[in-house]
Amino acid sequence: MKRHWLGVCVAFGLALPSGAQEARFHSPVDIPFLMSGNFGEPRPNHFHCGIDVKTQGVTGKRILSVCDGYVSRLTVGYDGFGNAAYVTHPNGLVSVYCHLDRFIPALQERVRRRQYEEESERVDVRFSPEEFPVKAGDLIAYSGNTGASQAPHLHLELHRASDGALVDPLPYFRHLAEDTMNPVVHGVKLYPCPGEGLVDGAGRATTFTVTADASARVVKAWGKVGAGVWTDDRMDHTYNKFGIWRITLNVDGRQVFQSVMDEFLPGENPWVNFWGDYAHFRKTRHWYLKSFVEPGNTLQILSADENRGWVDINEERDYRFEYTLEDLKGNKRVSRFTVRGVRDDAGLAREAERERQRMASGSRLLYDRPNVVQGPGMELRIPVGALDGNKAVNVKIEVQEDGLSNRYTLHDDFFPLAKRATLMLAPRVPLERPEKGYIESSRGYVGGEYRDGWYMAQIRDLGESYALAVDTVAPRCKWMTAVNGQKLSVLRCSPSDKESGLESFKAYVDGQFVLFTSYRGVWTCRLKDTPLEKEGKRRQLVVKLTDRCGNEKTETKEFIY
Ligand SMILES: [Zn+2]
Repeated sequence: MKRHWLGVCVAFGLALPSGAQEARFHSPVDIPFLMSGNFGEPRPNHFHCGIDVKTQGVTGKRILSVCDGYVSRLTVGYDGFGNAAYVTHPNGLVSVYCHLDRFIPALQERVRRRQYEEESERVDVRFSPEEFPVKAGDLIAYSGNTGASQAPHLHLELHRASDGALVDPLPYFRHLAEDTMNPVVHGVKLYPCPGEGLVDGAGRATTFTVTADASARVVKAWGKVGAGVWTDDRMDHTYNKFGIWRITLNVDGRQVFQSVMDEFLPGENPWVNFWGDYAHFRKTRHWYLKSFVEPGNTLQILSADENRGWVDINEERDYRFEYTLEDLKGNKRVSRFTVRGVRDDAGLAREAERERQRMASGSRLLYDRPNVVQGPGMELRIPVGALDGNKAVNVKIEVQEDGLSNRYTLHDDFFPLAKRATLMLAPRVPLERPEKGYIESSRGYVGGEYRDGWYMAQIRDLGESYALAVDTVAPRCKWMTAVNGQKLSVLRCSPSDKESGLESFKAYVDGQFVLFTSYRGVWTCRLKDTPLEKEGKRRQLVVKLTDRCGNEKTETKEFIY
C-alpha cells in the first residue's frame, strides 16, 4: 500500500492497477452489469468507497455472492448502509453489499432474532465460517434503497481484512464492464503557491479550458504554481459520470504528479476536502483535483516529485503542461496548456508580505504538531494530522447575555479538518441538570459529553459557529395509522426530536417487544411479522421514545389484532 515520495522520475509508471492480475469475480446481479458510480469519486468529506451497480431502478433484484467464501456479518442501520451483508473470501478480501431491501430468509431470521434479543432495529450480527458458507453466484439478499441511498441500487465495497483498506472492486469485474469512452476534461485551475507565486500577475487562482494541442490558453505566471484538473470519466450504455482512475501531470516532459485511485484507508476519506478544492466545489459543485500535495497531506494514492507537484516558473519562457487522464480499461485523454514565465519580482514581494500578514492575523495552527486554541469559556484541541499546512484562524466570540454560553465562530470561512478536533465549551453558569446540555452548531446537535464543568464534542469543520444549548423537550410522535381502538394489521408512525435528536425507539404490545423498521423517518410494524398471534382481541401498544439528552416520551395506544 505504501507509495513513497519519489525524487526520480523513472520510477514513475511502475505502479500497476492493484488487482489487475487478480481473479475474475462473479457478477453481484443476474441482470446486465451496469454501473452508476465508481470507486474513489470525490464527494463532500469522503471518496466513494465502492461501486454502484444499477438494479434497473427498482428494489428486489437478486444479489449474489461475487466469490466463494462465507457470510461473516450482517448489519442493519450502520454506516448509512441500511441493510448490509459482508462475505469473507479466501483471498483476504471481504465483499460488502449495501442498501439491501432484505436478506435471504435464513439470514433474515438470524437478524430478526438478534433484533428481538436486543430490542433494537439497529444490530450487528457476526458469523463463524461454518455457519453460512457460499459459492460464487449464490443468492444472499435482495437489492433495495435502505440507508443513505438516493435511489434503488447496489453499493458494493471490497474491504481488505488485514488492514481494513477499501479496495477498488472494478478490476475484479473488468470482464463485465463495457467501456470504450475516454475521460473528459472540463477545465484546469492554476494556483499560485501562497506568498510564493503569481498567476496572471496576482495571488489568485484562475480557471480555464484546455485542449489536446494547447491552443486554448496561455497563462502568465511567476514563482511557484500548481495545477488542478476538473475531469470525469464516462462508460458505455449509461449517462452517468465517473471518477478518474489515474491522473498524471507532466511539465516539459517530466512527471511532477500522479494519483492512482486503487485503494485507501477509511481514515483517509476526509483528505478529499484537501486534495479536492472543496471551497471551489461548495460554490460550483465541480471538483478540481490538485496536482500538488500540501505538506500535511498524507493521502497514499498521491505521489509527486521533490517539489510536491509545485512548478517553479523562474525563467522567462513557455512551460508545457500535459495532463493524462486514464480509466481502468485503458481509455485515455491527454490535455495540454502553456504557462508563460513573465518576470515580476515586485509582485512576488507584495504577495510574500500579504501572506506574512495573513498568517500573523489570527491564532496560528501548525500542521505537524497538536494545536490548542483557547478563549473565554472555550478550548479547541486539534490533533496532529488534521491540517494540510500551517494556517491562521480567527476565533470570533459573540456574547450572548441570556444564552447558556457565548457563540464561538472558530473561523470566518469554510475550514475542514482531516481528523476530528475536540471542542470544549463551559456554561456561563452551572446547569441545574447538566445531562440536558449539549453543543450545537447552526446545523444542529453536535455532541454533549459533560465532564468537570465542560461540554465536549468532536468537530470536523472550524468554519461553523458553536454554542451550548439545552434540551428538556421530549420527542414527539405523529401517527400515520389510526391507532384508536380499531382493527389494525400495520402500525406506522413518524417520531422526531427537533433539539438533540432521537436516540432510541422501543415498542411493546401487551408487554412484548415488537420490531418497528425505519425508512426515511417513518417507523413501521407489520403485525403478521411479529410474535403476536392474530386473535381479534384488544391490545395495548406502548411506544418509548428517548432523545440524546435522556428526555423520554411514552405513547400508549389501543388497537384490535
Ligand atoms: Zn455507492
